[in-house]
Amino acid sequence: MFIEPLLRNKKNHKDANISSVGWIEVICGSMFSGKTEELIRRLNRAIIAKQKVEIFKPSIDTRYDVDNVVSHNERIIRSTPVQFAEDILLLAGDCDVVGVDEAQFFDDRVTAVCDKLASQGKRVVVAGLDMDFTGKPFGPMPALLAIAEFVTKVHAICVNCGGIAHYSYRFGDKADQVMLGETESYEARCRNCFHQ
Ligand code: ZN
Repeated sequence: MFIEPLLRNKKNHKDANISSVGWIEVICGSMFSGKTEELIRRLNRAIIAKQKVEIFKPSIDTRYDVDNVVSHNERIIRSTPVQFAEDILLLAGDCDVVGVDEAQFFDDRVTAVCDKLASQGKRVVVAGLDMDFTGKPFGPMPALLAIAEFVTKVHAICVNCGGIAHYSYRFGDKADQVMLGETESYEARCRNCFHQ
């Protein structure tokens, strides 16, 4: 389990002028691996520590709800949908922790945005699919993994054999990389079952 290296709280620190150090955490994995649950767990801990937390997600992801990050087990945190990654820079303001969910749907510029936020002293927690349904690295995720201080890969359970799954297998023959729809369209599969 990921343990935060050091939670700095600017407001509560004895020396108000101390410059806080930011960093980037990436939580990646397949569908049904619990990425969003882990993101919510970390952000909830920060909220309990009275840190100012903002959560963003690409406006393309409207599977369940426009305003909330909703994980599969229905724990909810309010979030702000944004069209472009740069919008996060404008909206993050003076918050201590920035959460980014479904990061794979942003374009490559999200990498520079996260880098800038971390350099401003913010803790940036990014969750996203590391591979698309063909098993290829998904959008900006490889670059985000490279620049992050901390990387957590979470796994699902293979629907076929019960093994460790890190692929998102998709039923049907549509070629579009972005296809939302969850359980009826996808299942988590291990290496052997994915390539069968
Ligand atoms: Zn399997």
